[in-house]
Amino acid sequence: MSEAPDTQNRHFQEPSGLDDLASQAVPAATKLVDAIPGTTHEGKERQVSIDEVIAEIDKKLEGKYPVSLAQAWRYREEVRAKYGLPECGGRWEDPLAYIHVMEDILSSNDVNLRGKHEFEAFFDENPTAGAVTMSPDVFRNTTVVAQAASSNDWWQLRARANQLAHEGVHALQFQRSPRMPDEEGEREAYYYQMLTPQQILKYKDDPTYLLDQINGSIEQNVQNSVKTNANI
Ligand SMILES: [Zn+2]
Repeated sequence: MSEAPDTQNRHFQEPSGLDDLASQAVPAATKLVDAIPGTTHEGKERQVSIDEVIAEIDKKLEGKYPVSLAQAWRYREEVRAKYGLPECGGRWEDPLAYIHVMEDILSSNDVNLRGKHEFEAFFDENPTAGAVTMSPDVFRNTTVVAQAASSNDWWQLRARANQLAHEGVHALQFQRSPRMPDEEGEREAYYYQMLTPQQILKYKDDPTYLLDQINGSIEQNVQNSVKTNANI
């Protein structure tokens, strides 16, 4: 089916600047606390919260970056709470579980889900778009167009999970705040998608990397998407 470009489309570009999360063997976010071995005390492991990890990282780099990890994390968690989004950090280890949860959330918000193969013309015209969210009009509800995935194709499942994490935010933005400026929309989507507990844990001993991501790569992705959106 051919689809005319829509000025209100928001689309997803593969985030740059993050390493391949797929290669990480980190536990799902629900087991986050278990994943942080604390100091051993009387034979029991002390449980360390993500907030403690973040506070420690910020202490090491105090005043060196405009946006601290604590600020970035608070913003990301506010986005998640605002739209009722699940933790997406476990999507590489268990993409199917994340896909099911996100598909349910989107369906219950009257968002249509379509496959990329149905919108070939759009993706031909927008080669940097990995997926797209189309605003509602008289013919259709808000529509997320993402990679279709069969349950035994790991690569497709991960691509779909990753795209749903980003486009899911845009879809809920169209439903709840249709006039949100593009830059704010992209910032919400990239923070939710890219600043995960898994990412923070993985780089807790390399805090400069994490703060460079927040103050550099994520912000760069936001600006690139805003620029591209203006062209479609
Ligand atoms: Zn986007």
